[in-house]
Amino acid sequence: MVRTGRTLFGMAEPATSVDAALIRRWIRDAADEIAANRDYLTQLDAAIGDADHGINMDRGFSAVVSDLAAADALGPGELLSRAGSTLVNRVGGAAGPLFGSWLRDAGAAMGDGASVDAEDVLRALRAGLAAVQRLGAAVEGDKTIVDAFVPALAGFEKEVRNGGSLSAAATRAAEAAREGARATIPMEARKGRASYLGPRSVGHQDPGATSTALLFAVFARVAGRSG
Ligand code: ADP
Ligand code: MG
Repeated sequence: MVRTGRTLFGMAEPATSVDAALIRRWIRDAADEIAANRDYLTQLDAAIGDADHGINMDRGFSAVVSDLAAADALGPGELLSRAGSTLVNRVGGAAGPLFGSWLRDAGAAMGDGASVDAEDVLRALRAGLAAVQRLGAAVEGDKTIVDAFVPALAGFEKEVRNGGSLSAAATRAAEAAREGARATIPMEARKGRASYLGPRSVGHQDPGATSTALLFAVFARVAGRSG
């Protein structure tokens, strides 16, 4: 059953499925969140990279938002795939192709239906992580996107297996992603630009893992209200 309603008192209820409207809200809110954190993400990248991560992500998500108007009548999976392609095409550096492939493959895994449930989202997250790892060959502990993504996916899956709602699973994923991003601080980078620093990369939170946690936090927020 797809519930799109509000409660009697006009409060938004948690979403029980992911439809195009939810993905549109996620894209818009994610773009806002990234814009608000643009300088923070860039500062994180200044410490262990080349000080462009916030700029890259902001440029990419702005392009995705601009493209939304032209993406009328698409389902949730198709919208995500299209957003991924925009990121791949419009953002240079490591992040564009990595986040872009994530969204593209996650969207493809959702199929072209009008709405998907928590199990479908779980499959989409698996496909997204596989895309990141296929492209970047990073494993847990390398101080990358993967260090936030793996615990987020595990948290989402655990909640779904325990009979939790989509919204509860998204919240658990967001908490795990935030913890995962924080856990990159003591790591020595083994992939990407930060790996050139070797031991000097220790003591700084990874920018890509931080963006990953932001994206999951926004997903939890939009899944927590259906309209
Ligand atoms: P660039 O490193 O090209 O300047 P960004 O600064 O936009 O690109 O993105 C850097 C982030 O990309 C890193 O913080 C890291 O999380 C992520 N990253 C880099 N290489 C990889 C990889 N091989 N696998 C997964 N994530 C990676
Ligand atoms: Mg950079």
